[in-house]
Amino acid sequence: MKISEFFLPTLKEAPSEAKVISHQLMLRSGMIKQSSAGIYSWLPLGFKVLKKIEDIIRKEQDSIGGQEILMPTIQPADIWVESGRYEDYGQEMLRIKDRSNRELLYGPTNEELITDIFRTHLKSYKDLPLLLYHIQWKFRDELRPRYGVMRGREFLMKDSYSFDLDLEQSRLTYQKNFLSYLRIFARLGLKALPVKANPGPIGGDLSHEFVILAPNGESDIFFDKTLLELDPLSKENYSDKNIIDKAYNKWAQCYSVTDDIYNEKEYNQFVSPENRTNSRAIEVGHVFYFGTKYSKSMGANIINNKGESVNVHMGSYGIGVSRLVGAIIEYSHDDKGIIWPINVAPFSVGILNLKNGDEYCDRMSELIYQNLLIAGVEVLYDDTSERAGSKFANMDLIGLPYQVFIGLKSKETGLFEIKERSTNKRYFLALDSLINHLTEIFN
Ligand code: ATP
Ligand code: MG
Repeated sequence: MKISEFFLPTLKEAPSEAKVISHQLMLRSGMIKQSSAGIYSWLPLGFKVLKKIEDIIRKEQDSIGGQEILMPTIQPADIWVESGRYEDYGQEMLRIKDRSNRELLYGPTNEELITDIFRTHLKSYKDLPLLLYHIQWKFRDELRPRYGVMRGREFLMKDSYSFDLDLEQSRLTYQKNFLSYLRIFARLGLKALPVKANPGPIGGDLSHEFVILAPNGESDIFFDKTLLELDPLSKENYSDKNIIDKAYNKWAQCYSVTDDIYNEKEYNQFVSPENRTNSRAIEVGHVFYFGTKYSKSMGANIINNKGESVNVHMGSYGIGVSRLVGAIIEYSHDDKGIIWPINVAPFSVGILNLKNGDEYCDRMSELIYQNLLIAGVEVLYDDTSERAGSKFANMDLIGLPYQVFIGLKSKETGLFEIKERSTNKRYFLALDSLINHLTEIFN
């Protein structure tokens, strides 16, 4: 893509309503445009990042046997009445009436809808286990939408729902999802920590939030520092129950909790003084076993291997896809702008033609651009006639992992400068090596 043709409405100054750095940078780099409080349009640069995050999540969920579906945003109220949550949900739920006066709502989550699908189509223990997920917009009329896309009213969530025969099977499913979440966040370039969360009325120990440490986070967590050293990408074998169990326990046994269930005495049982720490954090995911809560109230039964009709056991697993865009920026930026982790960057390489109009610079810039495109590298070419200084600032702001500079000096030396955004490391390469080098990194 050439910047002269790209819809990239960058701003010099962040609007004053943006209080946190991620919100400021998203507005300045033209990723989003607010349409009303907590509701945003995603412009090309922002939308590319959102799609990359989706794809990483999708691949990981598929790899543990998740099957993607798509449920609607608008749901009928009656299934929520059946589950008993229609009144409980209160003012966060956006309630709507259609022309025939039927009560509808914009889904804040999908437990009821998925339970309804399950009870209609699945009847036997032979259909289990089953893991269904979708990536869909949700609406919650948050009391205080703020921090840009991090606490929106309309937001994109990946939510999975698991169906198992009993607690034992559910535990294994829970563990698989837990480990899958660790890998998802690592692939997104984040160090996410699982922390034990309030399981609500169900009780038990099968509820974890996944958080990213960040000063602008809305949660407070207490944790054991050894958690920071565990490797989320270690390769567990998903077909082996014992290996999964061991891998899960390595993480789950570390004392790490959200502040609402923090217990000072327990924390001081479990964690040695030099490893105790606490931090502000952003919640990016939540995994949760809720047993037969919905299957009981909504009658989602299966016939087990003894011929008895039993309530199916369920869990749900959410990731805030749109919140992650903000969270990644909170986690990875400097005073010049965003620093995209490679896997989610909207483009991999930025080309800066520093002397637009000069025959050599134009020709070489175009050549590098075309060669990278052919090699399958996603590239954004600044072909405008802006000053060099403003091109530098703009490219740093939008945070692509690599920048290539083509200027008059290259004419003398035949070398082109490359800058790595995350480290500020700079080096020079001739045309062929430059193309090979960048192609290798991104393929
Ligand atoms: P929070 O405590 O932040 O309100 P939650 O407990 O209500 O989150 P869940 O119902 O578990 O959230 O939803 C799953 C995920 O969806 C969360 O982990 C978070 O990443 C994301 N999420 C929840 N609410 C919002 C929101 N208002 N804006 C953006 N993302 C959200
Ligand atoms: Mg909430």
